[in-house]
This record gives sequence, structure tokens and C-alpha cells, in this order.
Amino acid sequence: ALPVIYAITPTYTRPVQKAELTRLAHAFRQVPRFHWILVEDSTTRTDMVTRFLAGCGVPYTHLHVFTPRRFKRTGMPRATEQRNAALAWLRQRRGRRDAGVVFFADDDNTYSLELFEEMRSTRGVSVWPVGFVGGRSYERPLVSEGKVIGWYTGWRPDRPFATDMAGFAVNLQVILANPRAQFKRRGSQPGMQESDFLKQITKVTDLEPKANNCTRVLVWHTRTEKPHLANEPKHRKDTVVIEV
Ligand code: UDP
Ligand code: MN
Repeated sequence: ALPVIYAITPTYTRPVQKAELTRLAHAFRQVPRFHWILVEDSTTRTDMVTRFLAGCGVPYTHLHVFTPRRFKRTGMPRATEQRNAALAWLRQRRGRRDAGVVFFADDDNTYSLELFEEMRSTRGVSVWPVGFVGGRSYERPLVSEGKVIGWYTGWRPDRPFATDMAGFAVNLQVILANPRAQFKRRGSQPGMQESDFLKQITKVTDLEPKANNCTRVLVWHTRTEKPHLANEPKHRKDTVVIEV
């Protein structure tokens, strides 16, 4: 059987949340052998997300962990606790006999279906280009003779792994074999989450280049504009309550 792709999505309550999750589900439900681990940044599983998941047509696990407010300042890494909660779930619920690939799928990015075909064969840690990050139209691993030899990026090329969260996947057995590997709050500089995590589980020379030796962009770090809600009524509200 094909290895299961476990997509870890941190998500938080805001006006566009349901629209984002809808867009994601439309891609994910077309991927065979796929398991969505959705981790809400909230004190409970919200009713909206609970209902959404029940009807989305994607096999899923619904978790939640609230980010302490002291970690919610600008410039601080986002969704550290949520990603770690998903890793803890995998380590608890999956074992040596489970074939899988773990991928971090933020809720606002755009995913081509081909990306999942590419990552499915990840034996250790695989990498590929990501559109719209690093201050350039894309960032990518530089590949020579099948090995990663550096990074094309517009931002801090000195990073040991100059890739975005959407730019790599990890075999489930690597996650299980490194039970202490996780995303760090303490000592992690902004934008260094990926490098801090990857250096706990792999070496640059062991990375597996995907997407035609990292020459194709199959995922985009898109960001959704905040809707303008300045004209929301304060008093004479609509006659019915509608979930958006
Ligand atoms: N996120 C979260 N809590 C927050 C902010 C963000 O769970 O307080 C999630 C968000 O839904 C997304 C991921 O963390 O899946 C990355 O956040 P964002 O897309 O805002 O980061 P950026 O694109 O700016 O790196
Ligand atoms: Mn984002």
C-alpha cells in the first residue's frame, strides 16, 4: 500500500478561516491515502472547525492547543505548539509498521496535487522549491548530481536549511526514530524554525531532491488579504445568524 501522507495544519480563528480550510480540503480530498492533522490554536476544538471537518471528505484528526499570549507577538515564530502537538500525536498513535510521510501544510498556502505525488516517496527527508518566499518569486534547493549543495534564496542564505515550512517532507519513521525532535520556542530566531527542526533529524547531504531536481514550483506561500469589515453593523444586525 502507498505510504499515508500526514499533513499537519495549524489553524486559528479569524474571518477567513473557513474559506482557507475549504480551499485546502478541495485539494486534499483528491489525494489518495491522505490524513489531515488539523491543530487549532485555541483552548477547545471550535464548533465551526468540528462541523467543517465532519463534512469535508478528508480523513482527519482534530487537535487543539492554545498558544500562550506571551508567544503571540510580532516577529515571533507562529504555530510552534500546534506543530509539536501533531508530532506528539503521531509518536503516540503510529508505530514501526506504519508507512507514512509527514508534511507541514499551513492553512493559507496553495498546493498542487503533483506535490503530494512527489513527496510520497520520501525515504528520509525530501525538499523542493516553494513559490513566493525568501523575498523572491521562489526559493529552492540547489542540486548537483542528485545532492543538495546549497540554496537559492533572497533571505539569509547562511541558514543551514534555507527552506520554508512548505518546502520539505519527512518520513514518518524518521519522526518516530527522533522522538525528541520538535519545533523550538527558546533560542529560535524568526525564520529559523525550519532549520532548527531539520538539523535535529537530517544533514544537508542526505536530503532527497523532489520536483525534477528542485526545478519545479508545486507549492506557493500565498498569503490571504484580510477582508475589509469596517461596515459591519454594530446594532441593526442581520435577521439570521450565518456562519462565514
Ligand atoms: N497560525 C496559528 N496561530 C497564530 C498564527 C498563525 O495557528 O496565531 C497558523 C496559521 O493558520 C498558519 C500557520 O500558523 O497555518 C502559519 O501562519 P501564517 O500563515 O500567518 O504565517 P506566515 O505565512 O506569515 O509565515
Ligand atoms: Mn502563511
